[in-house]
Amino acid sequence: MPFVAALKTLLGEHGVLTEAQDRAAFERDWRGLVQHPALAVALPKATEQVSEIVKLCAAHNIAIVPQGGNTGLVAGGVPIANTPQLILSFNRMNTIRALDLEADSIIAEAGVPLARVREAAATAGRLFPVSFAADGTAQLGGAISTNAGGVQVLSYGNMRAQVLGLEVVLADGAIWHGLHALPKDNTGYDLKQVFIGAEGTLGLITAACLRLHPAPRAMAAALVGTGSAAQAMALFRAVRQVAGPALTLCEFMTAPAMQLGGTPPFAAPAYLLLEISALEDDATPQALLERVLATALAEGTASDAVIAQSGQQRLALLGLREHIPEGELAAGGALKHDIAVPLGRMADMVAQAESFIAQHHPGCRLNIFGHLGDGNLHINVRPPSGQSLAALTPVKAAITSGIEAIAVSLGGSFSAEHGIGQFRLSAMAAYKSPESLDLMRRLKQAFDPAGLFNPGKTIPPERLHD
Ligand SMILES: Cc1cc2nc3c(=O)[nH]c(=O)nc-3n(C[C@H](O)[C@H](O)[C@H](O)COP(=O)(O)OP(=O)(O)OC[C@H]3O[C@@H](n4cnc5c(N)ncnc54)[C@H](O)[C@@H]3O)c2cc1C
Repeated sequence: MPFVAALKTLLGEHGVLTEAQDRAAFERDWRGLVQHPALAVALPKATEQVSEIVKLCAAHNIAIVPQGGNTGLVAGGVPIANTPQLILSFNRMNTIRALDLEADSIIAEAGVPLARVREAAATAGRLFPVSFAADGTAQLGGAISTNAGGVQVLSYGNMRAQVLGLEVVLADGAIWHGLHALPKDNTGYDLKQVFIGAEGTLGLITAACLRLHPAPRAMAAALVGTGSAAQAMALFRAVRQVAGPALTLCEFMTAPAMQLGGTPPFAAPAYLLLEISALEDDATPQALLERVLATALAEGTASDAVIAQSGQQRLALLGLREHIPEGELAAGGALKHDIAVPLGRMADMVAQAESFIAQHHPGCRLNIFGHLGDGNLHINVRPPSGQSLAALTPVKAAITSGIEAIAVSLGGSFSAEHGIGQFRLSAMAAYKSPESLDLMRRLKQAFDPAGLFNPGKTIPPERLHD
């Protein structure tokens, strides 16, 4: 039986999309930068169906592009050019299977949006802490496969830190049942770790068991004006020193970035958004913020500050940060970068990026924001005023490799939380050691010898490295 007909027999008419207009939104990445055709989009409803799809694709030699909410920023979840591919969407695998308050864990299918996991946890009086602007659409499987971070990594860690167990369909169609809720399990290799951050190149995650945390009872947020990234770092250190792990959020934005997110309550060259959480139901976080900000204002590391006086005001302050990526896209987009450097090099990173752009690409506008407390900034470059993003095409590679080279020279990474996908392959070839690439290729060979899962992503082809 031909491939698509066999797929329809397996999933039913509604489980397979073949028409170009139905496939289009699945074939295009979030920013609309890449679009290549797939043979079809498969919408399985159960793990067993995913397993059957894998066997069918293996028999027909058709590659599988796993896709969650398709909010990834490196085109990992959309097809590559000139390859027969099936998009396997997890949209219909969206059941929360179990919530266990005694084990402080939740088991949910890959297609459950992250925000729904958080809501389910909150309803039960718990916290699921991974949170970012796209989490209403981004799904559990996609977030695990990119090891997503977000705004609360500082205190709770990234996606990897939340995963207790996984259920994964392997390249031969076998189902690996690893949905344990064990915080400790030293029985040989920790196999689930291999799939986290693997961008769908080693297996298809169908469900996950996640750790839940106690829900904070009191939270206080403040927006603080600072003069520079160096001052922002000084302020971060001061707050961290007194608040410790209660400092659950520390986001940095330069003034141009802030303007893309909304209208700030006061003008400053740069801003720090801080949030302190407490497990006790009292005014401690607010008092702590007031105290530390009074010192910062007196010492001059802060020029101005507002502390949210209500839950609504707190959300409004967080919204200013959250809306930046969408504001940037609406304003024409940017060359995006997702670097990380050791905390002690953060101010150097910003200063060197600013002088690199001023010197080599004058007129280009920097849009710098991100997770300062994690050493992770998005150093995005917008075209000169009045020009479209396309105007940067001739210098795109030079700008990106310039920014990435600064991060690497400071002991950092060229991809902190977005992954590699299709967009960061040349950086992988340039900066990843031959030993690391060799180990990754051997892992790929062991898990997916036929190259069925997500070809053209994550691992650069050998010739790029030579
Ligand atoms: C506005 C905006 C803000 C963002 N902010 C942040 C942020 O603060 N921090 C951060 O870390 N990221 C952020 N991101 C990017 C983030 O990585 C993705 O949003 C999210 O992690 C991917 O989830 P998704 O379901 O959309 O996955 P997709 O984009 O569909 O896929 C991502 C990757 O995972 C693979 N994949 C998807 N599902 C599975 C599965 N079930 N099994 C195996 N592989 C699978 C895909 O093949 C692809 O390689 C942001 C994105 C946007 C648009």
